[in-house]
Amino acid sequence: MRKKIVAGNWKMNLTLGQAEQLINDILQAGLRLKEGQEVVLATPFPYLLKAKSLLKNTPGFYLAAQNSASEKSGAYTGEVSAEMLSSIGVDYVILGHSERREYFQESNATLAKKIDLALANNIKPIFCCGEPLEIRKAEKQNEYVAKQLEESLYHLTEEQLKNIVIAYEPIWAIGTGLTASAAQAQDMHAFIRAQIAAKYGREAALNITILYGGSAKPSNAGELFACPDVDGGLIGGASLVAADFQAIISHL
Ligand code: 13P
Repeated sequence: MRKKIVAGNWKMNLTLGQAEQLINDILQAGLRLKEGQEVVLATPFPYLLKAKSLLKNTPGFYLAAQNSASEKSGAYTGEVSAEMLSSIGVDYVILGHSERREYFQESNATLAKKIDLALANNIKPIFCCGEPLEIRKAEKQNEYVAKQLEESLYHLTEEQLKNIVIAYEPIWAIGTGLTASAAQAQDMHAFIRAQIAAKYGREAALNITILYGGSAKPSNAGELFACPDVDGGLIGGASLVAADFQAIISHL
C-alpha cells in the first residue's frame, strides 16, 4: 500500500511567532490520521528546529525542508546541506520546485545531485515536476514531464526509488487559482506511474506516492484525492491557513 500524504509548502512566508501559532492551530484540531497517511510541513529553514519540537509526540506528522544544497559541504556561502538537515531530524526535502527551477536556475542535472545527497543522508526527496502553460497548450506536457523524471530520477536504483515521493505541479496552476481538473491531474499521474512502471517495474510504480500541487484547496481536494493515481497533495497558499489545511487533510 502506498502512502497518502498532504504536505504544506509554506514557501517564504511567516515569522517565527506566526509559524508556531500555525503549527499549534493545526495540531489543536487533533486530526486522526489513518494508517499509511502522513502530514508533512515544509517550513522555512530557520523554523525547522522549532517545528520539530512542536511536532514531537504527534504520530503521522513529518518535517520537510524546501531545498537542500547540490554539494556535500564546504565553501558554499548561504547553502544548507542535506547532512545538516539530517542532523536536526528533517524527514523530507522538497526538490525541484518550479520556483527553484525558474528563479534559481536549477536544472534536472543539479536536481539529480541534490536527490543523491538527500538519500545518502536518509532524507526523502519530494521531487517536483510539471509543465509551464505554453507546453500544456502545445499538448507536450507528457514529453516534458517524462524528461524531468528521466534526467533527475532514472539513475536511482529501485531500492532508492522507494524513498522518493513525486509531486506533479503544473506551473500554470501554482498560486494562480487555476487548478488542474481532476481529469487532467489523473491523466498526468497515471502517465507518471506508467513511466515509472516502464523503467522500474509494476511493483515500484504501484508503491510510489504521487502528489498533486497547484491551487489545491478545501473545495477541490476531495475530487482531486479521489482520483486513483492521486495520492494526496502538495499545498502552497492553503497550507498557511490552519482551517483550510485541516480541511484538505480530512479529504485524504
Ligand atoms: P499553491 O497551492 O499556492 O498554488 O502552491 C502550490 C505549490 O507550489 C506547492 O508546492
